[in-house]
Amino acid sequence: MERRDFIRTTLIGAAALGVGFYGGRKIGIKQPFETIIKNGVIYTGDGKAPIKGDIGIRDGRIAAIGTLGDNADFILDAKGLAISPGWIDIHTHTDTNLFLAPKGDSRIFQGITTDIGGNCGDSPFPYSDAHYEANKDTLRHGYPFWQDIDGFYDAYRKQGIGINYGSFVGQGQLRSAVIGDNNIPATPETLAKMCSILDREMEMGAVGISLGLEYAPSSYASDEELIELCKVVAKHDGLYAIHMRNEDDFVEESLKDAIRIARDSGARLQVSHLKAQNAANWHKMPTLLAMIDQAKAEGIDIAFDRYPYIAFSTSLSSFIPLNDRQGSSEEVLARLTDDVKAAEIGRYAESRIKRLGGPQNVLIATCRAEGNSQYSGKNVAECCQISGMEVWPMIRHLLISEKLNVQMAGFAMKEENIQMEYRHPLSMPGSDGSVYSPEGPLSESIPHPRSYGSFPRLFCKYVREDKILDLATAVHKCSALPASRLKLKERGLLIPGYWADVVVFNPDTIEERSTYDNPHQFPVGIEHVFVNGVWTIKEGSHTGKLAGVIV
Ligand SMILES: [Zn+2]
Repeated sequence: MERRDFIRTTLIGAAALGVGFYGGRKIGIKQPFETIIKNGVIYTGDGKAPIKGDIGIRDGRIAAIGTLGDNADFILDAKGLAISPGWIDIHTHTDTNLFLAPKGDSRIFQGITTDIGGNCGDSPFPYSDAHYEANKDTLRHGYPFWQDIDGFYDAYRKQGIGINYGSFVGQGQLRSAVIGDNNIPATPETLAKMCSILDREMEMGAVGISLGLEYAPSSYASDEELIELCKVVAKHDGLYAIHMRNEDDFVEESLKDAIRIARDSGARLQVSHLKAQNAANWHKMPTLLAMIDQAKAEGIDIAFDRYPYIAFSTSLSSFIPLNDRQGSSEEVLARLTDDVKAAEIGRYAESRIKRLGGPQNVLIATCRAEGNSQYSGKNVAECCQISGMEVWPMIRHLLISEKLNVQMAGFAMKEENIQMEYRHPLSMPGSDGSVYSPEGPLSESIPHPRSYGSFPRLFCKYVREDKILDLATAVHKCSALPASRLKLKERGLLIPGYWADVVVFNPDTIEERSTYDNPHQFPVGIEHVFVNGVWTIKEGSHTGKLAGVIV
């Protein structure tokens, strides 16, 4: 459905409910409300200029918009603040992290009310019959071991979640369940089996399929195999999301393949984290966007997402060749302390750094070992200046002294390309992040700041500072656009009858605070968040409510 049709349909749907009004005309509003949000500037999510008025919430839904008086249990004065539909993150790896942080801290505090997981070919289901048989008497995160999306969703329903959640079926996991993890071509039988499991998962509520073609075993699938799987998704009008086979030297060829799979299967296409990685490929972005425009003109239903950061985040040990990363930490460290072997690893590391554009593009995150604190948050060129070491000896020193446990950010992407992407009408933010929390087991990790800051960063940097987007367009990209891609029912717009997922924020102060070396920081400027009508973030603090549902 085109966006315009989508909005028209939903307006008719809202009118049919016979509650409230839209655009300021009263038609017999039932009182009282549970909550009235007063005096705010309302961005409905349709991308048009905002409207002034009050929002009345009842039974989890938006009951009315207009001049509503004061007849409510709670009145929220939103003077000077912007009101938006709750933000929807179409590309996350939240997966099972809501078991470890049910409130969804890193998401809800940045205004995200719906996370979509199961991306890049990986989801915590489905499992083979044999795997399920072997594990079914055990507990997973305290819940009966599940085999399919239904069991996984059920565990979340039993536990309670602070944000809404939906998932793709990871094609890598699906292939693993049927064929295993090795590079074996599908047979007509195994392909039929994968299609039938996928069909069932779609029926149980999966939003679509995700491919992660840079990772095994997802990568072992031929394009023909993928087309057959995507036909199943098309039958359910689901979405086909792709982490392409290559995102640097062969990104154009990979995008061409992605579009061909959509064309031949009839599935709607979402290109995940669209980028042209490494300096030698930065010039390719206009071509990629032109290819997307051309596919759209040809009638292919295509869009893409992108996180608002120019760096990826990984372990510094990714500079060690895969072969030499095998085995225990002790074995890897032994290779690094062996001068001959280390010289060989160093040549590989230096070639990788050259492709990234130089040591100044490699940022070292938190260092914990004694004497290393001066390197935290510095790039490798700066670290070399501080220590007097050359590039590879510096990295080798960090890897050995930190016992391999040191994170890095690689600035492999170009700022102008992100701006170009966000200007494009088919783009939307997708964090590629996950649920984290400054408390509990997830606080131990050092995630990419995108998990905490993607959406505030869009509004701070690309709306307020760089003026790439106006506020109404940015809100649309965070709400109605992803909702329409995902076919989420009655979400993504602020109109009567829709679920009351609402963000109240200050467009003048909204800002991400999470950084590469200090990531567990909540953003500022997100004042209030409602999830299904329940006040979950109140004056910047969490109320403890878990009002999320499976979408
Ligand atoms: Zn990916």
